[in-house]
Order: sequence, then structure tokens, then C-alpha cells
Amino acid sequence: MAKILDGKAAAAEVRSEVAEEVAGIREYGVPVRLDVILAGDDPASITYVASKERDSEEVGIESKVHRFSTDVSQGELSDLVERLNEDSAVSGFFMQLPLPEGLDSMPLISSISPAKDVDGLSPESVGRLVLGLPSLLPCTPHGVIQLLKRNGIELSGSEAVVVGRSNLVGKPLAQLLLRENATVTLCHSRTRDLPEVTRRADILVVAAGKREMVGAEHVGEGAVVVDVGIHRKEEGGLVGDVRFDEVEPKAAWISPVPGGVGPMTRAMLLHNTVTAAQMGL
Ligand code: NDP
Repeated sequence: MAKILDGKAAAAEVRSEVAEEVAGIREYGVPVRLDVILAGDDPASITYVASKERDSEEVGIESKVHRFSTDVSQGELSDLVERLNEDSAVSGFFMQLPLPEGLDSMPLISSISPAKDVDGLSPESVGRLVLGLPSLLPCTPHGVIQLLKRNGIELSGSEAVVVGRSNLVGKPLAQLLLRENATVTLCHSRTRDLPEVTRRADILVVAAGKREMVGAEHVGEGAVVVDVGIHRKEEGGLVGDVRFDEVEPKAAWISPVPGGVGPMTRAMLLHNTVTAAQMGL
């Protein structure tokens, strides 16, 4: 039977460390504030932003949401990014995606100062990550690494296979695993014989965005399996990219959905905010 990579427990640890650091910084009279740019009325985005505000409040981080209607212009958002870059009261900020149709997120993300880029997704932040320079790390990939490390999983020298090569998860995760001295294979939709490749993994991370795609045939005995996928079931509740019941008996460790990577992603945003505030000290 596999041990559970408990994201709720690891995220609670991260949050309590962040709360302590926030309190420490506050003693110097330095603000710790997370700003959010929210454009449009996408219900999922509104829910995510509300939960990030709650998370911030819990650890003593101030937050401010800059709301815009669907017809906001590229120029208005660009001006706000510039203002937030300059505002010393703002430790870090991010733009909730997707933006309303007709707006181009990349030039806006590119203009976020790397010191305040708490999503860690701007070209400069990603470039710094690849080059091994200090930077704020993308929340989901960093959350995966923290989930593994905090459970004592040895990454150095391991055979790590990542399924999915998105800019949000797969590519930066491969870089972080490499930084931890894993031997990394990055799979995608054109990978020939996926099960043959994934069975070699000591550590298998699945971020394909395909509901319950990975089964027992993809997993070697004793592997560590991390499921990044999130899918809403019609009958209610969440499910991942991995068929948990089938994979769990073969794996040494497995992350559940919900309660695995999701809480870690949220916690790493708080971690990045306090790190950004410390960098500004
Ligand atoms: P994307 O859709 O952007 O990327 C999916 C990747 O998986 C692509 O690289 C694609 O390959 C690859 N892929 C798709 N099908 C297959 C297949 N059959 N075999 C091999 N590779 C395949 O997704 P994201 O990276 O944004 O998200 C992945 C999942 O993680 C989603 O379910 C998302 O909801 C979830 N997620 C969860 C988070 C959390 O906090 N837990 C945070 C972010 C995302 P190709 O490039 O060739 O098309």
C-alpha cells in the first residue's frame, strides 16, 4: 500500500513558516502585501482570487484586488502593472488568467518586475530559473518539489519522468527537478509508447490535463507518483490525471486529488509573496 503525499499537511507547514516570516518582517515596519489584477467576470477566476485573498489574510499578508470589467483595455492594464512595479507598498502581484478576449497576456506578464513576479511565470523569471539564478519560482512546480522534499523523497540521482510540457507546469517542473539533480524525461502528446517511458520513473509527475489517463500500466513497482491534474466530476468532487485506485497498490507514495498538489500551489504563492517582501528589505 502506498504512503500518501499529504498536500494539506505540507501546505499547513509552509503556511505556518510564512506566517512566522511575515510577523518577523512586520517588526521592521515593512508591509507584506499581495496585489491581484482581476479583469472580467470569469466565475472560476473570481473564486480563485477570493480563495487567495483568504489564504493571504490567514498568514497576515495584506491583499488588494484591482478589478476591471471585461472591456478593460490593454493600455489600462499595462499602466497598472507599471504602477505596481513602482509601488513600494506592494511586495508582489500577479494577473489572474485568463484575461478577457482580445487582450494579450504575454506583454503584460513580461513587464512584471521579476522581484514582484509571485507567479514566477514571466519570461525573465523563467530564464533566471533555467540559468540557475535567484528568482521567484512558479507555484505549482515548486509546490510539487516541496511536497516531495517534505516527505523525505530523495530527488538527487533519481529517474524523474514528467508527463506534460506546459509553460505553467511541465517545463518549469523539469527545470526544478534538474536543479535537484534528478535525471529528467519530459513527455508530451507525441511521446512514443508513453507507458514504456513512465514505467522507468522513480518519480512520476503527471500534468497532462487528461482525466484519469494514467493507470497501473504506466507505473513501475515502488514509484513515487504525483498527480497534478484537477478535473471536476459531474457528480461533484474532484479527480486527477491518475487512476488512484489502480496505481496506489503499485506505488510507494502517491498524491491524492484533492489534497495533494492543489493546496501546495496555494501555499507557494504565499511563500513567494513573503520572499518578495524579504527581497525588498
Ligand atoms: P496543458 O493542457 O497546458 O498541458 C498539458 C500537457 O500534457 C501538454 O504538454 C500535452 O502535450 C500533454 N499531454 C496531453 N495529453 C497527453 C497524452 N495523452 N500523453 C502525453 N502527454 C499528454 O495543461 P496544464 O499543464 O496547464 O495543466 C495540467 C493539469 O494540471 C490540468 O488538469 C490542470 O487543471 C492541472 N493543474 C493543477 C494545478 C494545481 O494546483 N494542482 C495547477 C495548474 C494546473 P502537447 O504539448 O504535446 O500538447
